[in-house]
Amino acid sequence: MGQAPDGARWWGVVPAAGVGRRVGSVIPKQYLDLGGQKVIDLTLSALVDHPRVQGVVVALDPADDHWPGTRFAGDARVQTATGGAERCHSVLNALRELALRAADTDWVLVHDAARPCLRSADLDHLMDALADESVGGILAVPVCDTMKQAGPAGRIQATVPREALWHAYTPQAFRIGLLRRALEAALAAGHLVTDDASAVELLGLSPRLVEGHADNIKITRPEDIPLALFFLKQQGRLC
Ligand code: C5P
Repeated sequence: MGQAPDGARWWGVVPAAGVGRRVGSVIPKQYLDLGGQKVIDLTLSALVDHPRVQGVVVALDPADDHWPGTRFAGDARVQTATGGAERCHSVLNALRELALRAADTDWVLVHDAARPCLRSADLDHLMDALADESVGGILAVPVCDTMKQAGPAGRIQATVPREALWHAYTPQAFRIGLLRRALEAALAAGHLVTDDASAVELLGLSPRLVEGHADNIKITRPEDIPLALFFLKQQGRLC
């Protein structure tokens, strides 16, 4: 139990060092209340309480004083790391912390703190889909709107064919050593990648797209909060 077919173990990294200005709240979005539970508690429980996940490292802002009031602050399965200026720095710091107890060939699931609606079935689907995978993969959802590319002055420059477009969600899963090397190389080359797959792509590799459900939203704007509440109630995770 808890291991990939090759004996590799599964771990989690949760970048939670963002301030989330677009959501318009005084407290960072990962600490907002959703029906009596904090966003970060809901997010972490999806990983920490999963039987195949060995442990989780959460990256926190050095000035964060909300973390001690959360459900997992004193939990032995959860370690903390110092967050960085951008998400990619936070993930890299957490991976270095994880390397103290995990093997380079173990898997890491990197999952945004601001995505509390991850379904357990989607997490299982991702892990199962990567059983024979060498590069890694991400949960993603095909685009269903018509996509426009903006030109100058807020006008449409082009309509981008949507058939090959997907929304990149998290978790994003890679071997720990590969992802660490990919992020280090991306940062050394000056690329502030906004997800983990981008760093791996810069190495010339093609991570797999694993289809998940569209309710795994990232809380970004004020209107995402009632939406997340609705999805969590529908999933039976909140009453
Ligand atoms: O800002 P955005 O919503 O894209 O952030 C995605 C995730 O990355 C969030 O969970 C946020 O807390 C985290 N993050 C981080 N360190 C940063 C910026 C964002 O851990 N410097």
